[in-house]
Amino acid sequence: MRRGLACSAAVILVLASIRPAAQSSRTTAPWDATFRTIPDAKNIGEYMKRLSARPHHLGSPYDKDNAEWILAKFKEWGWDARIETYQVLFPTPKERVLEMVEPSTFKAALREPPVAVDPTSNQDSEQLPSYNAYSIDGDVTAPLVYVNYGRPADYEELDRRGISVKGAIVIARYGESWRGIKPKVAAEHGAVGCVIYSDPADDGYSVDDVFPNGPMRNRDGVQRGSVMDMPSYPGDPLTPNVGATPEAKRLDIKQAPTLTAIPVLPISYGDAQPLLSALGGRVVPPAWRGTLPITYRIGPGPARVHLKVAFNWNMTPLYNVVARLQGSTLPDEWVIRGNHHDAWVNGAHDPISGMAPELEEARALGELVKQGWRPKRTIVYIAWDGEEQGLLGSTEWVEHHDEEIRYKAGIYINSDGNGRGFLNADGSHSLEHFINDVARDIEDPDTKVSVWKRMQARAISRGNAERRAEARNRPDLRIDALGSGSDYSPFLQHNGVPTLNIGFGGQDDDGIYHSIYDDFYHFAKFADTDFRYGRALAQTVGTVVIRLADADLWPFQFTNVADTVQMYVNEVQELLKQRQDEVKERNRQIEDGVFAAVADPRRPLQTPKIEPPVPAINFAPLENAVSALTRAAERYKKASETARPRLAANGAAVAAINARLIQSERQFVEPSGLPKRSWYRNLLYAPGYYTGYSVKTLPGVREAIEQKAYTDAEAEVVRVAKAIDRETALLDSASADLERLK
Ligand SMILES: [Zn+2]
Repeated sequence: MRRGLACSAAVILVLASIRPAAQSSRTTAPWDATFRTIPDAKNIGEYMKRLSARPHHLGSPYDKDNAEWILAKFKEWGWDARIETYQVLFPTPKERVLEMVEPSTFKAALREPPVAVDPTSNQDSEQLPSYNAYSIDGDVTAPLVYVNYGRPADYEELDRRGISVKGAIVIARYGESWRGIKPKVAAEHGAVGCVIYSDPADDGYSVDDVFPNGPMRNRDGVQRGSVMDMPSYPGDPLTPNVGATPEAKRLDIKQAPTLTAIPVLPISYGDAQPLLSALGGRVVPPAWRGTLPITYRIGPGPARVHLKVAFNWNMTPLYNVVARLQGSTLPDEWVIRGNHHDAWVNGAHDPISGMAPELEEARALGELVKQGWRPKRTIVYIAWDGEEQGLLGSTEWVEHHDEEIRYKAGIYINSDGNGRGFLNADGSHSLEHFINDVARDIEDPDTKVSVWKRMQARAISRGNAERRAEARNRPDLRIDALGSGSDYSPFLQHNGVPTLNIGFGGQDDDGIYHSIYDDFYHFAKFADTDFRYGRALAQTVGTVVIRLADADLWPFQFTNVADTVQMYVNEVQELLKQRQDEVKERNRQIEDGVFAAVADPRRPLQTPKIEPPVPAINFAPLENAVSALTRAAERYKKASETARPRLAANGAAVAAINARLIQSERQFVEPSGLPKRSWYRNLLYAPGYYTGYSVKTLPGVREAIEQKAYTDAEAEVVRVAKAIDRETALLDSASADLERLK
């Protein structure tokens, strides 16, 4: 069926190009089908080669050079483009020392050597050394303790063994939680320093051959990365809630709450192994074992280490490239699409494998304009800077233009890298139906079936019986909710813009993330070698953009929202019940002496303390709100379908409904924000306070239960219910207006 579409597109194209522009926007389908024939994989490879040719981190000469090159490309392709600059705090390393001082001595190399076959790996003079941005300065010497992934649950295991990290330096492995969580939790437990290393079990030789023989992390590879407290707020640490313009009021560096409390440094497993093998004390629990050829022990000591880090705390200019195609009939409704252009080093995978397709989309959209296409809505394409430091470019832009975005932004579409395999599309559930439709029209470059078919097949092959049935029978495949970790976060969670994060992947492992080996050589050898999935990404996102820009009515669908919120409500109720059962059972085991009776006196574990029983919570406000939302969503679905033939003839009335629909996701936004972190204002989705990247849905309720704050959970139930009621009211009024159309 797709092939047929593609053939007829050429004919329609000829017709469309000789028609006046105003009429041509009437027929969306041909324009998006024409669009899909334009992206060229070869161009995507060439953009990647150019953009990743030199290290291009925030503040580097090549970062600015890239921004100017991207600007020139947008202009060449007919876009109205400019660079928007902000001034942000960006520390770079002045001094990095990690050495073992007892029981033997060892000095960590802290260096990734060039690899002969990899032509960009020797650009030392432009490479940022391996470090964690927004670690504070520090100089500490202390016994070492291994804390596994450094999550709160790992410290509970330490507690049961009577091991404290107070006054110690912890060594945690990368993975499971976002890296910034590790020093945060370590400091909460009294540690004075934090070292993070990449264990070969997670992205090294246990997975596949290491670079340059294979794609995985070699013994010297280090994952750089930001460790700011992003779950509190992302963006420039000195300007929360406002754009980092030159005149913005700034916090004093000493008061900036998102810097770490203790010094942090990332290392390779080559540097970690001597430290870990010098640890004594208890052997780790089985789940804590990595795959270095050593016996993993917890410590503390006898290894004592000296960690010293000092940074240049400089203000740095940041360059967002912002390009516009003005809408013809609804210019004040924006479709925004972005990917970041900055990298930690050369960054071919992250971010250029997503940035290059975005550029190819921009070229192809410019091509359509030349052929006579006039989008109804304004299309805004952005190449962000400073993403790697903590979503600086996107956060400052959203905060700076907060008012305007609130009334104009209908959707934000993000990508952040791309690979071979399956389409992943996560985001707002009002777009679930829409993105399923798009996925049905995109051909998978390798298997030639639709990318939707492959997504469905994967869901069937992976799921349990219930999930399999759902993947076979539910009209739309479920999309996952978004946590954080890329530039969609300020749009969705601060401003309430409906959001999609899109990318292909899932077939290739790699271990070069945020290292000097993430470069063109690696990508062209081990990833999407001929950029065919880059082309598929450009086809997918371009189709999304065109359909949204030209839709008579924003194609939001709310029955899936109601269905998903109902699922979340069931989940938090189930979570509470689990907590109740767990505490009851554990208290009973404590009282019955079970812990004491199974204990191995040579390897003692402390008996946990009796916990007060978990109280009941009244979920009725939430249940009632979701029932009402379900009815309103059904009504809206019917009303929008019935009204479809009447939309074109009712321009002014439909424009008013569109303006209201732009506010639909914002009904879940609460100006006062989430408990303890007011920057996050969306009551449906947030990154976990103790997970960092992965999402917590109904975060106020869910995290209060997880953190045993049951009174707070009950208050949050009421707040979320009110937000859902606002959404219901908005849908009912939009439905009433649609029902009145003649
Ligand atoms: Zn990225």
